[in-house]
Amino acid sequence: MILRVALDVPLPKLFDYRAEDVTRADIGYRVLVPFGTKHMVGLIIELAAESDIPNSRLRQAEKILRDVPPLGRSWLELVKFCSRYYQRPLGEVVGAALPPRLRSARPVPDAPCDFALAPAGRDALAAIPPRQRRLRALLTRLAQGPASVSELAAQARGARSLLKRGIEQGWIAAFVPERPAHRFVHAHELTDEQEQALRNLRRGFEKFRVSLLFGVTGSGKTEIYLQLIADVLARRKQVLVLVPEIALTPSLEAAFRDRFPGACIVTQTSASPEVERARGWMLAHRGLAHIVLGTRLAVFASLPEPGLIVVDEEQDISFKQREGVRYSARDLAIARAHIAGVPVVLCSATPSLESFHHARSRKYDLISLTRRAIHDAVLPAIRLIDTRVHPVQEGFTAPLLDALAARLARGEQSLVFLNRRGYAPVLACPACGWVKGCLRCSAHMVIHSTDQSLRCHHCGLGEPVPRACPVCGNPDLQAFGRGTQRVELSLKEKFPRTQILRLDSDAARTGRGLEDLLERAAQADILVGTQILAKGHHFERLTLVGVLNADGGIFSSDYRASERSFAQLQQVSGRAGRASLPGEVLIQTRYPGHPLYQALTKHDYAGFASSVLAERREAGFPPFVFEAVLRAESTDATRAMRFLRGAIDAAPSRSSAISLFDPAPMSLARVAGVERAQALLQSRSRPRLQAFLSEWSEALYRLPAHGVRWHLDVDPIEF
Ligand code: ADP
Ligand code: ZN
Ligand code: ZN
Repeated sequence: MILRVALDVPLPKLFDYRAEDVTRADIGYRVLVPFGTKHMVGLIIELAAESDIPNSRLRQAEKILRDVPPLGRSWLELVKFCSRYYQRPLGEVVGAALPPRLRSARPVPDAPCDFALAPAGRDALAAIPPRQRRLRALLTRLAQGPASVSELAAQARGARSLLKRGIEQGWIAAFVPERPAHRFVHAHELTDEQEQALRNLRRGFEKFRVSLLFGVTGSGKTEIYLQLIADVLARRKQVLVLVPEIALTPSLEAAFRDRFPGACIVTQTSASPEVERARGWMLAHRGLAHIVLGTRLAVFASLPEPGLIVVDEEQDISFKQREGVRYSARDLAIARAHIAGVPVVLCSATPSLESFHHARSRKYDLISLTRRAIHDAVLPAIRLIDTRVHPVQEGFTAPLLDALAARLARGEQSLVFLNRRGYAPVLACPACGWVKGCLRCSAHMVIHSTDQSLRCHHCGLGEPVPRACPVCGNPDLQAFGRGTQRVELSLKEKFPRTQILRLDSDAARTGRGLEDLLERAAQADILVGTQILAKGHHFERLTLVGVLNADGGIFSSDYRASERSFAQLQQVSGRAGRASLPGEVLIQTRYPGHPLYQALTKHDYAGFASSVLAERREAGFPPFVFEAVLRAESTDATRAMRFLRGAIDAAPSRSSAISLFDPAPMSLARVAGVERAQALLQSRSRPRLQAFLSEWSEALYRLPAHGVRWHLDVDPIEF
């Protein structure tokens, strides 16, 4: 027989290997094979009777790794879909989907299992010669019924290694004991609005269905999906919950553990240590985990009995994988729910325009929550401070400073938000106009005051701040603009004797990390932070949010910037007044009349989204057209462009349904010495775009690359 194996190499095909004694039951097992001079672990996708490769060159598979049960059909369908849709070789998708430990032949930490005799084991038992006494004894014992490892180990010496051998041979099957019992702790009487939402969600809940749970921050969306999860667990199914970032929402994991005592909850993130991630993955794969909670990569968790998928903060761009296999975990979650025939719930206070559009056009069910769940808690009042009327000094207008002072006097907490870390984003020479750029990127270097350095936020390059202008010798270099460090310093000058704490990724990297920082944050009088503060934290005393530099988001060349900006501002506004104290949000802007701010002050995301969607329809942008880009990267910009032109020449003939645009450098053209350019594709028909891409992709693999790395990015978010 021939095994057709998916290997993590950049070639769009499966690899054939000879193997004896294999059956269709081996599909989905990992297999160790020789590849060139190395060994690789791949996944058995198909069996075939013959191969296109001449027999003399066909190599033998080394070992089928039966310690991990085979990946199921629905999981294989998911990775195949991902491979087709995102135009990536199946082997690369499998490589991205499996935790690192499973991509190696090293032993995988297993979930607690019982063992039983497989049908092949019965035949083996008859054939094993009597002198293999211990093996016979073990199989004979299992022929009488399943047993646990400890039971078997007590019975015979060396039982563990015999078990391992038996499993590898396919004689013994590990089987999963019952999922442990769990409870659901009811914490709140639901509000009428929540009740209604829950009733709607429960309807037709045992088949595929996409619901968009759209509710203002604090409206109790989490509470609703926790209850839904309880329903699903009661039906003995498993639940997958995707969140943008677990490190930023430690309270969410705690909430899961509090509300589902006794449940087996596993987390899957790229930050977890390899063995831990593999252990959690195995618990899910064996069907023992009740809930898998994870970041985008968790969309590939193996779940034999899925019952529900939840995507929280579905608009978050961190669901899009931006290197390697460039998938959107939100979109794959929907594909996965479709394959498995289970419901998927997307949650957000500011849904992506794609999802919002689908909800409005009834492709998804729209379930809205308009009020905060906690009795008396109201949405914060959002006020705009016109910086043309109130001049900005050291980053602050007088009304914002007054508001901060008032909070200090009342012993309440404030948050000053700006989305720029470091001291200042630009170092320049006012005499000759020199600006400090990164040697390796087309970007300015950012001044950091904590160690008097310049750092590139794109490639990480660092160097000391120069004493004088390297062009004209002027010693009076100036810092333009302001980041969190500069704001922290000016606040310290303005409000001496107050506790001011900066929370950004630089601060999280020093000292004892983010968790410690968040703990200390509860005590501080003023927090200065970037978007790492915007999400899921609750600060009891926080009643004021001041936003600096918000205008950047409304004049970006990226058509998605305003959508993101709204989401972020609303999210950070949601930090104000979560508990019994009413909250206030002050946004400093030169453009208070801008529709984005006007909608924001009215908490009217739906109105904002509708007007942006109308613009997008007019201009021909997603979600009204579908996009993909072919990107080329090279140390030499002309090579990258030449490759793209060649690729366009090699493109299959196309109907008017497909527009393929001339190549152009990316807006950030150079990163870490690599020049990046791309050609954009658009179509109003997704199937036609898909068909074109798969034909084109075949041609691309045949094209000479000449020092160029290329990839297709389907539904790109970077331009
Ligand atoms: P969201 O996910 O919409 O931002 P959460 O589910 O986190 O909202 O709820 C916000 C706060 O309201 C939480 O502190 C939660 O415990 C509380 N909460 C949710 N539902 C209720 C309810 N029915 N009664 C009282 N408090 C509630
Ligand atoms: Zn100069
Ligand atoms: Zn750089």
